[in-house]
Amino acid sequence: MTNRKEIGWNFDNTYSRLPKFFYNSLSPNPVSSPKLAVLNEPLATTLGLNPEALKSEEAVAVLAGNQVPEGGSPLAQAYAGHQFGHFTMLGDGRAMLIGEQITPNHDRFDIQLKGSGRTPYSRGGDGRAALGPMLREYIISEAMHALGIQTTRSLAVVTTGETIIRETELPGAILTRVASSHLRVGTFEYTARWGELEELQLLADYAIERHYPEIEADENRYLSLLRNVIKRQAYLIAKWQLVGFIHGVMNTDNMTISGETIDYGPCAFMDTYDPATVFSSIDRQGRYAYGNQPYIGGWNLARFAESLLPLLHENQEKAVERAQDEVSKFGELYKMNWLKGMRAKLGIFDEEEQDETLIESLLSMMQKYKADYTNTFRALTYDKPEGSEMFNASEFKQWYDQWHARQGRQKESNEESHQLMRNNNPAVIPRNHRVEEALEAAVEQGDYSVMERLLNVLSKPFAHTPEQEEYCTLPIPSNIPYRTFCGT
Ligand code: AMP
Ligand code: MG
Repeated sequence: MTNRKEIGWNFDNTYSRLPKFFYNSLSPNPVSSPKLAVLNEPLATTLGLNPEALKSEEAVAVLAGNQVPEGGSPLAQAYAGHQFGHFTMLGDGRAMLIGEQITPNHDRFDIQLKGSGRTPYSRGGDGRAALGPMLREYIISEAMHALGIQTTRSLAVVTTGETIIRETELPGAILTRVASSHLRVGTFEYTARWGELEELQLLADYAIERHYPEIEADENRYLSLLRNVIKRQAYLIAKWQLVGFIHGVMNTDNMTISGETIDYGPCAFMDTYDPATVFSSIDRQGRYAYGNQPYIGGWNLARFAESLLPLLHENQEKAVERAQDEVSKFGELYKMNWLKGMRAKLGIFDEEEQDETLIESLLSMMQKYKADYTNTFRALTYDKPEGSEMFNASEFKQWYDQWHARQGRQKESNEESHQLMRNNNPAVIPRNHRVEEALEAAVEQGDYSVMERLLNVLSKPFAHTPEQEEYCTLPIPSNIPYRTFCGT
């Protein structure tokens, strides 16, 4: 028997001390034969958990939701959300927050099981998840983390030994998700709609304490909360755009207050540069297309601002004015982060007004010649413009001369520019065909070696090593566009 000390659980459950309005307590919903499929050992160590002890039967029973860990306090969180623009009551329909782990560095992380069974918020769903989508979340969230993008992380995936029914029968699994919290825009929407002012204030104070303690003493701390969430989301979404990440389902319930990427459902990385790119099979109107993400970010934050109105000023008109003021800054903030990132991708340190034109003309050529997003920047980094028709076009040659002239006007050396580009242009991203290949081997054959190799390569996206070469190649062109499905 492994005792608590050996695994290292160290829970403190502030969420369960909030009023019952915010959640429902849960009891275990056991699965028949849990087995550890993947374990993130470095993350376990960061959390203060012992990776070896996590492989024990007792620990796996916890990761499967069969047993409550000592000090844990399982619950399902209540939240609402705008899904594709429509407001609905949601909540954790297939997730269980088991506790908040305090790490040896005194950081606090939610430990949540995804796919852990039905809850009072399940509506018609079975509360379960399939192995493929849980492994997919594991791969992509860890790749995002390695790319330096704020995100929830994945500690483990266990198979349940049970079958779940979707279009076909699929093996069931549970993902252990680690997040700096699971507070969402939708948590505020829920509270604004169904709670009293007191509850809204409690939630806002809770969010401040967890994510923005530095604003606690501000004159209007709720306005500061709004401003800071806007700032973090503007930073986050700019980072998505810079690596070509498409979230796929940017509903307000999938937007965090912490500024972390959450809910890896139909997300995917773009190959060919095209702002209209959509992978999700349910996004028929392209609401969450790559090029739309910054606008949707602003739209979601407007919903957040609306939820906070009663806290911003007692006079409603004044509250609306303040909210609008803040939300209207999102666009510039986003743009500033994006421009800064794009300059870095092109090896540019300082700022010139024409930089934006230089960037935009590269992007429009990439679109015209259907150039691969990641590989174009990679080719520019190595100063080896090959592998795309675009590089032979005379308009590109013109652009290339302008770009070099631009680099020449800064004080930094060519070597420094090259280094900046290496640090900002990933050699590898989780390309869809590579992710599919890894999932297929794991799910169909129980062979996790393909996934492990992929995870290893993705863990150092800026290493630019020869072993990464084979992961940079594009899929064989297909007439059928790549499609992703919500992990339900
Ligand atoms: P998602 O698309 O994962 O963001 O989920 C949207 C909402 O549907 C959330 O409230 C989920 O908890 C709920 N949900 C998704 N899948 C299931 C399922 N299999 N059973 C119950 N609820 C689910
Ligand atoms: Mg969600």
